[in-house]
Amino acid sequence: MIDIKFNELLDNYAVLGNPIKHSKSPEIHSLFAKQTTINIYYQSLEVPLTSFNDYVYAFLEKKGKGLNVTVPFKEQAFKICTHHTKRAISAGSVNTLWFGTGATIYGDTTDGKGFINDLIYNHKVEIKNKSVLILGAGGSVRAIIEPLLKQAPKEICIVNRTLTKAKEIAQMFTGEIHVTYCSYEQLNNQSFDIVINGTSLSLQAKLPPLPKTLLNKNACCYDLMYSYNQTVFMQWAKSNGASLILDGLGMLVEQAAESFNIWHKVKPNTKEVIRHLRKNQK
Ligand code: NDP
Repeated sequence: MIDIKFNELLDNYAVLGNPIKHSKSPEIHSLFAKQTTINIYYQSLEVPLTSFNDYVYAFLEKKGKGLNVTVPFKEQAFKICTHHTKRAISAGSVNTLWFGTGATIYGDTTDGKGFINDLIYNHKVEIKNKSVLILGAGGSVRAIIEPLLKQAPKEICIVNRTLTKAKEIAQMFTGEIHVTYCSYEQLNNQSFDIVINGTSLSLQAKLPPLPKTLLNKNACCYDLMYSYNQTVFMQWAKSNGASLILDGLGMLVEQAAESFNIWHKVKPNTKEVIRHLRKNQK
């Protein structure tokens, strides 16, 4: 039996992950709750790798209201849901759960919307007719492609260590805009306007093999990872001529705001929270 501490007086929410102790979600949701004067209890729970489903069912049983899900459970979360949004189906993963009657579990992914909101509203990056390169072909990359395509880029290319995964994602999108894929070796004669790092290599302070000629003039580089110090990808971008270099803190807050909106039907002010987190980062 899973023993989750509940606050009996408030609506209960949690983020499930492993590891979880560095998660900013409890802080972000508490700031949103304060800002919108909605009282909630939001905790982070470190879930043993084999116990994800048990935690979700225990939370449901105790009448918890909603869950966020982070690494490494997003695909597992997709499987446990009885109902999925269209964008969750396209991404094959979910980061936001909420419950209906009986054992109904709804799942959505807000990562893609969070990313695009940060890029186009917070940083005013123009994507239309731009060439976009995405490094990596994991869960977060699957979530960002559809919202990127809606901004009408000239092309999107996915480069990944395991080529079959890049190919599988590229082939899911057969619309007017070309989604192509290649290996890191094949990047040598190519250059792009926007380069997005969706690999998990920044977590290990490493960089995939990138040619020095990869960036077009005025290029924008975005690392999905957030870090108090510049990630190695951000350092690479700086020394190879990028004009705009961004990390994933804005995406983190924006995806949390989308989850908050799903649960509470209120869109919080994200700029205020991003400013607060940047100011208090240590
Ligand atoms: P996944 O584990 O699903 O994917 C990881 C990707 O990194 C894969 O494409 C993998 O390639 C690649 N990779 C790992 N190691 C290497 C290596 N040694 N060389 C080359 N490529 C490598 O991770 P996610 O998609 O969930 O997360 C990716 C990043 O995005 C993380 O840094 C995460 O923190 C960040 N993120 C940020 C969010 C935010 O709100 N800011 C939200 C979600 C994610 P291969 O397929 O070959 O294994």
